[in-house]
Amino acid sequence: TARVIDGTAVARRVREEVGRGVAALVAAGGVAPGLATVLIGEDPASEVYVRNKRRLSVEAGMQDLHRHLPADADQATVAALVDELAADPAVSGILLQLPLPRHLDPDALIARIPAAKDVDGLTTANAGLLAQGRPGLRPCTPAGVMALLDEYEVPLSGAEAVVVGRSVLVGKPMAQLLLARNATVTVCHSRTRDLPEVCRRADVLVVAAGIPGLVGDDAVKPGATVIDVGIHRGEDGLRGDVEFDAAAEVAGAITPVPGGVGPMTIAMLLANTLTAARVQQGIGD
Ligand code: NAD
Repeated sequence: TARVIDGTAVARRVREEVGRGVAALVAAGGVAPGLATVLIGEDPASEVYVRNKRRLSVEAGMQDLHRHLPADADQATVAALVDELAADPAVSGILLQLPLPRHLDPDALIARIPAAKDVDGLTTANAGLLAQGRPGLRPCTPAGVMALLDEYEVPLSGAEAVVVGRSVLVGKPMAQLLLARNATVTVCHSRTRDLPEVCRRADVLVVAAGIPGLVGDDAVKPGATVIDVGIHRGEDGLRGDVEFDAAAEVAGAITPVPGGVGPMTIAMLLANTLTAARVQQGIGD
């Protein structure tokens, strides 16, 4: 059966490395990176995510510059807050926690985040840099998947990679990051015909469809590396988009849920925040 990829352990190592980087930045005469998490309203899942991001950023030696606005804050108020953070030199990174309340336009707000402070990698500028294969801040979840693949020395050059899902947040940047590493990339989505057949081509299968248990053992090539990005809260805890037990019988390596990709997302957010601070302060690594 498959080797289980330990995202919790890799994420801890990444965070420790970020912590050392923060200390080195300060020792070199710089200022500790400041992460401005922005939460609008009281969505319980978002509150948990933001609390964890704040706690782990402080643990890495960063400044917690959290801001909270009520659920009924209007577009102009949130825009003014983003502009204020954009102009504040203490703020290295701005993280606008999504989803926003329905009456707000997320795209217009993300567009106000300067590319240099866009630690979620969601602005069109950073998406364009990624598409062109140029340096920039990368979306945290797909960057975390790449870090896991590298940590476990999964060969990518020339490999068949299949990404299930084409969202702006996960699937599309995931495909581009794999392409940048010379994988042969196929992107599947809700209109894909015969999903298991396409997935069975994959040496590296990344599933980010948001459908619990979508991918079973009939979609896994023997020995493949299976990365499950999905997170679903059920009666008996968290589960992913992959039928873990069945897929683990066939795969060579697989991420669990929880304890796989999830912890990597925050680790990469911290890594991005450190990178942003270094660039803004002109102090290299
Ligand atoms: P999304 O809903 O924006 O996108 C889902 C994608 O899956 C779409 O492109 C859609 O075309 C595709 N899809 C839907 N049904 C499909 C099907 N039957 N077959 C093939 N493709 C199908 O979701 P997202 O934001 O990309 O997130 C995907 C999942 O990853 C969710 O479960 C989300 O909770 C999770 N997620 C986890 C993390 C993390 O930190 N681990 C971060 C972001 C998202």
